[in-house]
Amino acid sequence: MYNVAQVIDEKCTAKKGCRLCIMYCPEANCLDLNVTKMVAEVNIDRCKGCELCVVVCDAAKHHAIVMQAVSASGHLMAKKGESAALGQAYQG
Ligand code: SF4
Ligand code: SF4
Repeated sequence: MYNVAQVIDEKCTAKKGCRLCIMYCPEANCLDLNVTKMVAEVNIDRCKGCELCVVVCDAAKHHAIVMQAVSASGHLMAKKGESAALGQAYQG
């Protein structure tokens, strides 16, 4: 099991122009803009779990990225909705 980053769509401000995590992620083709949803999106197959994106997103007070455990086979251990609820719980 290891951790990868996951964007909480509802909190991501990419539609207002934020691209911080995309600029800072050191892995190629890992964090990118989903132009359909206009949110940042992590390619979990490429994510190395460095948490840099979490740091920059939190520093900008967006708190839109959480680290999420995945199994050795690459499947997320919690559904996206659950991670969103967890992120919201931690915010307050
Ligand atoms: S830094 Fe946070 S708010 Fe900005 S694009 Fe990335 S996930 Fe969205
Ligand atoms: S944890 Fe690191 S490798 Fe993964 S998306 Fe964030 S910045 Fe990129």
